[in-house]
Amino acid sequence: MLKTDVLIIGGGIAGSSAGYFIAPHRGVLLVERETGYGYHTTGRSAAEWTSAHFHGLMQSVVLYGRPFFDAPPVGFASVPLMRRRGNVMFVRAGGEETVEAFYAEAKPSNPTLEEISVDRALEIVPFLRRSEISRVLYEPENAEIDVDALHQGFLRGLRAAGGETRTAAEFHGAERHGGCWRARIGDELVEATTIVDAAGAWADDIAGKCGVAPLGLEPRRRTALTFDPGFDASYVPPVDEMVSGFYFKASGPVLMVSPGDQTPSAPCDAQPEELDIAIAVDQFETLTTLPIKRLKSQWAGLRTFASDEQPVVGFAPDAPQFLWIVGQGGGGIMTSPGMGQLAASLLRGVPLDGAAAELGIDPVQLSPARLAAR
Ligand SMILES: Cc1cc2nc3c(=O)[nH]c(=O)nc-3n(C[C@H](O)[C@H](O)[C@H](O)COP(=O)(O)OP(=O)(O)OC[C@H]3O[C@@H](n4cnc5c(N)ncnc54)[C@H](O)[C@@H]3O)c2cc1C
Repeated sequence: MLKTDVLIIGGGIAGSSAGYFIAPHRGVLLVERETGYGYHTTGRSAAEWTSAHFHGLMQSVVLYGRPFFDAPPVGFASVPLMRRRGNVMFVRAGGEETVEAFYAEAKPSNPTLEEISVDRALEIVPFLRRSEISRVLYEPENAEIDVDALHQGFLRGLRAAGGETRTAAEFHGAERHGGCWRARIGDELVEATTIVDAAGAWADDIAGKCGVAPLGLEPRRRTALTFDPGFDASYVPPVDEMVSGFYFKASGPVLMVSPGDQTPSAPCDAQPEELDIAIAVDQFETLTTLPIKRLKSQWAGLRTFASDEQPVVGFAPDAPQFLWIVGQGGGGIMTSPGMGQLAASLLRGVPLDGAAAELGIDPVQLSPARLAAR
């Protein structure tokens, strides 16, 4: 029987980042059911970094991970992990209250957030439809993440520290035996001191297979498409309509568009619904002066939330040595360096570092036990 200190279930960004920060201190085996590591939500994101769109714990975890993006360890990646793009956020007539509420909440922790004129917005994105814009905010700190470089960097680092990663390795269940977990992976038995549940939309299912109470996580489907606008669109920053959640941005030289949908879904290989694609096309053509003639690609992914929409990192209150790292919702890529470091500290039983304390991050707030109390 294979033995390891820590068995991580899920090879998306959450499992990979946790593995990266744990592997220098403990033996790690990371298992991923699919034949590739980014097949599910991690490979389907919009790749944005922002702190203005979040509040509370989520924002603190985003900020905690920021130094890693700016200065990753030497050799982590051969390209910069992020590139500043800015973020244009607007409302149509009638949406002014949304602008004011967002500004009042976000400005204190995002001092560079500012209101800009419609003329200035059109200088930045000339194909916005002027008649559809009432008020505009601009956040210069918003950045684009190189998700593949980040994900591969975590996996490479995990292996370099002596950890092991496996694809096509499905976790089927685990029981307690002599103070350890005995887990079934494919047709193999693995003994582990600790199980880390980083299975995204499937995390509650994984818990159930270990006899651990689920957290009531909610996967929500979000849809996206890309199309070629007929010019190099790589200069286009993320542009959000703040009331509906609709947004578009550059994806390389083409444009990515999302209706901002968040339809509850069972854990699955999410696929785009025709209606959501039609809504995205209609919104884009209403809010801009560009037609969408032909789609280049379309997809959907599951963003998974805890009931308070804040991230969860911590040991299950009802089972020994079962660590949750879930509930990243729409920010699992940008929170990954922070979540991974927090998971490693909790797993090792060491206090969170000074930077976490300065941001007010505390293990009680992060813990899954908070959800039982709701
Ligand atoms: C359209 C869209 C836009 C987004 N935009 C952004 C953005 O701009 N910025 C941002 O930070 N985040 C964004 N997100 C959110 C982000 O993508 C997610 O929060 C993040 O990818 C979640 O990572 P994860 O590792 O938890 O989940 P996943 O990537 O889904 O990984 C979980 C893994 O667990 C595996 N697994 C499940 N069951 C088992 C089993 N039994 N055995 C073995 N393996 C198993 C799955 O196969 C899967 O690979 C977006 C998401 C979507 C859908």
